[in-house]
Amino acid sequence: MSVTVASLGFPRIGPRRELKTALERYWSGKSDGGVLLAAAADLRAKAWARQKALGVDHVPSNDFSFYDHVLDTSAMVGAVPGIYGWKGGPVDLDTYFAIARGAQGTDGGEAHADCGHGCTHGAVDVPAAEMTKWFDTNYHYLVPEFSTGQAFALSSTKIVDEFLEAKAQGIHTRPVLLGPVTFIRLGKSHTGEVNREELLRALLPVYEEVLKRLSAAGADWVQIDEPCLVLDLTHEDRALLAMAYEALAKAVPAVKLMLTTYFGGLGDNLDEAVALPVAGLHIDLVRAPEQLEEVLAKAPGTLVLSLGVIDGRNVWRADLEKILAVVEPVARERDIVLAPSCSLLHTPIDLAQETELDGEVRGWLAFAVQKLEELSVLAGALNEGRGSVAEALAASAAAAASRKTSPRIHDEAVAARLAFADAAMARRSKAFTARRTLQAEKLGLPAFPTTTIGSFPQTEEVRKARAAHGKGAMTDAEYEGFLREETARTVRWQEEIGLDVLVHGEFERNDMVQYFGEQLSGFAFTKHGWVQSYGSRCVRPPILFGDVSRPRPMTVAWWGYAQGLTDRPMKGMLTGPVTILNWSFVRDDVTRELACRQIALAIRDEVVDLERAGARIIQIDEAALREGLPLRRGDWKSYLDWAVECFRIASSGVADATQIHTHMCYSEFNDIIAAVGDMDADVISIETARSKMELLGAFAEYSYPAEIGPGVYDIHSPRVPAVEEMTGLLEAARSRLAPEQLWVNPDCGLKTRKWPETRAALVNMVAAARAARALA
Ligand code: GLN
Ligand code: ZN
Repeated sequence: MSVTVASLGFPRIGPRRELKTALERYWSGKSDGGVLLAAAADLRAKAWARQKALGVDHVPSNDFSFYDHVLDTSAMVGAVPGIYGWKGGPVDLDTYFAIARGAQGTDGGEAHADCGHGCTHGAVDVPAAEMTKWFDTNYHYLVPEFSTGQAFALSSTKIVDEFLEAKAQGIHTRPVLLGPVTFIRLGKSHTGEVNREELLRALLPVYEEVLKRLSAAGADWVQIDEPCLVLDLTHEDRALLAMAYEALAKAVPAVKLMLTTYFGGLGDNLDEAVALPVAGLHIDLVRAPEQLEEVLAKAPGTLVLSLGVIDGRNVWRADLEKILAVVEPVARERDIVLAPSCSLLHTPIDLAQETELDGEVRGWLAFAVQKLEELSVLAGALNEGRGSVAEALAASAAAAASRKTSPRIHDEAVAARLAFADAAMARRSKAFTARRTLQAEKLGLPAFPTTTIGSFPQTEEVRKARAAHGKGAMTDAEYEGFLREETARTVRWQEEIGLDVLVHGEFERNDMVQYFGEQLSGFAFTKHGWVQSYGSRCVRPPILFGDVSRPRPMTVAWWGYAQGLTDRPMKGMLTGPVTILNWSFVRDDVTRELACRQIALAIRDEVVDLERAGARIIQIDEAALREGLPLRRGDWKSYLDWAVECFRIASSGVADATQIHTHMCYSEFNDIIAAVGDMDADVISIETARSKMELLGAFAEYSYPAEIGPGVYDIHSPRVPAVEEMTGLLEAARSRLAPEQLWVNPDCGLKTRKWPETRAALVNMVAAARAARALA
């Protein structure tokens, strides 16, 4: 029996973020479309050649994208909303980018006035399409938009072009296509309910045409991604899958489809999945190893199984012997393909670039390139015997063994402390109503107290100073002096305009997770470990490799400096444990829950130290609590239980008179409102301006007892809202909640804004709060 290796997708951005550079030069008018196309072609050629050289048998094509593969699919089928002025025919690059980023506005219509590549800016002013998270990853896709009576037509031949491009380079690829059922499920409609079945019927002929063209171009296998198969599906959804794949199998029998699922197990969709008329099925055995047995029992012998055995969502080196033990018996019975669990889009590219990473930690890691190497070792062991790859197997075993025992990972003090943590640690002494009285006495705030979420503009100057300090061009003392001045100016200004609860401005922080990760033990950071978040934006998630502890206070000095400048309450500002966890690569040798509890204890120490230093209010941001929700509803409760408990462990070490704030910058609370209530924060600030306070409905319905700061203005744009607009929003909030519950603040931190609009907006915000008080 034969074992082959597949890659389901390779990172697009390039080892040095070449795609980011090329895109941003094009967008700013510094280069033309030809330069961008050439840069993209170069990245593709290198990715193909590299994967081939690493021993991949099924090299993917069409995994590349200028911005997003879901948007590519919308372009392929001609689902372009009317506002972009597209008149049919091939979707050109500028229409494509207009959907992705909006036209005019953000990157400055003026700067483009004379650019030579037919920019749409200037002539039109259209917003970008909505963007949202791709399943439970931190990758964002552009939400397809469908209208009633939506028609589809083949409008981009990118997938065929790229297949031929690789073929011309001597590489026979397996094109990647986002499946029609998942594509429709990811989309939405502005024009009322659309019938999914009708949409699918209209869409399938385009998919058939694409497959026919691929076949004519010489493709034999096509990877068709249907990650919706790991979600909770209804009968109707499953019927759509059957309808789609029967139609495709009938129309294009020559093409073999590898139906690809990832980010979880097939669960209750398993029977349907194995019965679909496709040639192959890929399953995620990292997230759902238990499904192998059932798939083997139920899959017809002719179905080629692709086993996702290497983690495409994380950075750990695999324990190859452990994987061999699972796949060896399968390989004896049938042909199999070995693959990463999902596309490698979600991992950094190449560990070899991390020359500054601690050697021991490095030995435990594998990025995209190393993961493909691991697959090729596995295939070698199965096809030619273990002896042929003995050295690689031994190295993998040694790394696995060292992770089990390394004192860098295992800290007995942390384990001991966790063992003693009891339920009482996760409880404030008194209930909210009693705490509220104590806090009101201590703080003496007016009705409708005003505050901000934490950060103030991270200006060019601040970023330059940070970079200079990082490079050693600015001494510690100089940098510190600079930050003190920024902070002092910001504190004075907040006092001047009459804000009630102040913040220090977070100028010293590079990022709300990294800043803490760098000061906690158990985290490592990469230099080039970038992962695409959306378009040209990439992030470098911290790597949580070991037990977490806090060697020394992290924020107390900056807080103390800022509080020393004013008599008004200065908030202590922290990132919460769940958010730190959700925005990092997390260890796979302990549960997420355990890792989160350790972080919670470390944050608790900081909270206690801030209180001891005199902080009356401490804010613990949980910006990423909601996005950690598991894909299946059945798994929500367990996640929310421990996530909430971790927040409470972090926040409950203080006296009842100390006010705990939290902040969550999103607007969907219906699903999690009970959990948010259980967090037992004294004040929560949330994002509401764009939804016109609608989401407060969830809080009102739940009878949320504590105080709430519903954002009265949207910080995502430079627009300065008028006083009346904000008083109007406050009125709307008052109609849903008691006036004593309300705080007045923006939607989120102000770090991405500039000073002029920040000043104007906050002055108006304070005026709006005063107007509300006068009415009360
Ligand atoms: N305190 C952080 C800030 O103001 C919160 C950011 C966030 O919620 N994303 O920047
Ligand atoms: Zn926020």
